[in-house]
Amino acid sequence: MKVLVINCGSSSLKFQLIDSESEKCLAKGLCERIGIEGSMITYAPEDGEKEKTVTPMPDHTEAIRLVLEALTNQKTGVVGSLDEIGAVGHRIVHGGEKFAQSVVIDAEVLAAVEACNDLAPLHNPANLIGIDACRKLMPNTPMVGVFDTAFHQTMPEEAYMYGLPYEYYQKYKIRRYGFHGTSHSYVSKRAAEVLGKPYEELKIIVCHLGNGASVSAVKGGKCVDTSMGLTPLEGLMMGTRSGDMDPAIIEFLAHKEGKGIDEIMAVLNKKSGVLGLSDNLSSDFRDLEDGYNAGDENAIRALKAYCYRVAKCIGSYVAAMNGVDVICFTAGIGENAPLVRTFVCSYLGYLGVELDQAANAKRGEDIAITTPQSRTTVMVIPTNEELAIARETVRLVK
Ligand code: AMP
Repeated sequence: MKVLVINCGSSSLKFQLIDSESEKCLAKGLCERIGIEGSMITYAPEDGEKEKTVTPMPDHTEAIRLVLEALTNQKTGVVGSLDEIGAVGHRIVHGGEKFAQSVVIDAEVLAAVEACNDLAPLHNPANLIGIDACRKLMPNTPMVGVFDTAFHQTMPEEAYMYGLPYEYYQKYKIRRYGFHGTSHSYVSKRAAEVLGKPYEELKIIVCHLGNGASVSAVKGGKCVDTSMGLTPLEGLMMGTRSGDMDPAIIEFLAHKEGKGIDEIMAVLNKKSGVLGLSDNLSSDFRDLEDGYNAGDENAIRALKAYCYRVAKCIGSYVAAMNGVDVICFTAGIGENAPLVRTFVCSYLGYLGVELDQAANAKRGEDIAITTPQSRTTVMVIPTNEELAIARETVRLVK
């Protein structure tokens, strides 16, 4: 079956068409600046040239219409007609406590997703708009929703509750939800597969280090803790997000800087993390690594603090699971920054971690980066959220 995977944001939309039998991506692309002047679509068929077209996209329905047109285009398309697309899989950011699994989308599901909008005001409404646009243009094609939060729903209460008045959980469902679940699930399963060991018997820590970053503890195939919380602001220091800090800083800064809550939150989301800590050098780890190698003190400060936080989080999950068998690195930084992996692993001597620097220098492979003698295995597993969504979609519509 050919599955169209859609990841819809408020002004952008990423897509991939995946053949579920071969698990190959047949074409992929991106619509940008939807509803804004200067919108454009980038389209890349599997073995063809990437093409970028600037064209008006007043809304998401028009964006999806252009995606479908590109996929069926006589010259560069990869399917003869839309009938060849057997299902659509949608990434949905927040499923609250309602969705511990992916679901076939119907009116009831849409209402339940909408009820979670408060928990992810920037993401869920955009996801719903994408689903709506697809349903308009492909009314007879089954659609599946795959939630970023679903994999983390197995966390025990002691891991997901905050030390706040219980009534806030009862009234507003304030608790840890966690994100990047599709990636944590895919990577932990894949690690077990590559090692040839039963998933159900392993204790795995996954470090998803991308622009957003989170760590999860997966014991016996179930998530038992994760570092992001009610929102994706909690946990690790990220590209531009602060991650954990003393909550009293918000009030302190508001007074000192004469700013409102919204402005402070914008600072914590967009101007903090390694960008802020490097005194605005960069949020991109390519720049930070270059800066580190050139002896730039801003880059050194940011990189060291970032890696220290990751190592500390790993330590807390070793405690949560009473041990660990495998630690996985994934996403943009986890897959591509050997320096970050080296720094993080330098804290893991107590786990008997021995890095194999030749393996650590490789890129784009599912690979163990520790020596055979290493007491704990550390791996790089490139994530593939789109493939995971396509697999879930096929599983549900078959
Ligand atoms: P993601 O959100 O998973 O797409 O990750 C994006 C981030 O990965 C970028 O902001 C970079 O910081 C980082 N990244 C991507 N490529 C490299 C690279 N070759 N070396 C170091 N960091 C990289």
